[in-house]
Amino acid sequence: MSTHSNPSQFSSANVDPAELAKFSELAHRWWDTESEFKPLHQINPLRLNWIQTLSPLKNKKVVDIGCGGGILSDAMARQGAEVLGADLAVKSLKVAQLHALEAGTQGVQYREISAEDLALEQPGQFDVVTCMEMLEHVPDPAAIVKACAALVKPGGWVFFSTLNRNPKSFLFAIVGAEYVLNLLPKGTHEYARMIKPSELADWLRAQGLDLIQMKGMTYNPFTRVYALNSDTDVNYLIATQKPLAN
Ligand code: SAH
Repeated sequence: MSTHSNPSQFSSANVDPAELAKFSELAHRWWDTESEFKPLHQINPLRLNWIQTLSPLKNKKVVDIGCGGGILSDAMARQGAEVLGADLAVKSLKVAQLHALEAGTQGVQYREISAEDLALEQPGQFDVVTCMEMLEHVPDPAAIVKACAALVKPGGWVFFSTLNRNPKSFLFAIVGAEYVLNLLPKGTHEYARMIKPSELADWLRAQGLDLIQMKGMTYNPFTRVYALNSDTDVNYLIATQKPLAN
């Protein structure tokens, strides 16, 4: 049986209020690089560079689904993209907006809107869609993938990152990161919500997105350095493209 068996009839139902509450509670710390969000700050240059190597961001229209406090949205805007950050945690969006003001970041906007609703409002309008570290927090991730596929233009790129589901990822991402190394608050990730690459690949295929590249991301607890490589056992990123219409 699928562990993701909660498809919602109404788009607004594809959200877990407890998940939003978890992120809202910490919202004021999004831009504290030593906070619970330190891992996201540390991986940000890696994922930004990876995105840029596949799809240079300058002058691109980008939507960042589940943008949180805007760590990636802000960085993409600073590369010259026109970025819309979307999330359903209002406190996080306010923090993101405030950060853009304080840092003087141009070309970034934030909105409280679901991926599904945005896809109805602006289908095929974005050159690049990013959806990072988000799918593992929603009841029906396949519906988010569908919305991302609808948002991107033909020929455009959709980038995902999430957590694999297997004994090793349980050990590293939950036991290791939340209980041993205290990199993340306890309860950040729920095992049943983690996603195997094969599952994500099925959802991509169902939406007609071509899988172009998959990368693993590892953390070395001794050097405290993250790296992108071929080890997709725990954290992984997937780059996809919507084919050009014939
Ligand atoms: N993508 C950001 C933040 C990841 S944290 C980054 O990688 O830096 C996960 C984010 O997903 C949180 O901001 C949370 O509020 C958001 N989220 C959870 N469920 C959501 C939903 N149904 N729709 C939109 N955002 C959601």
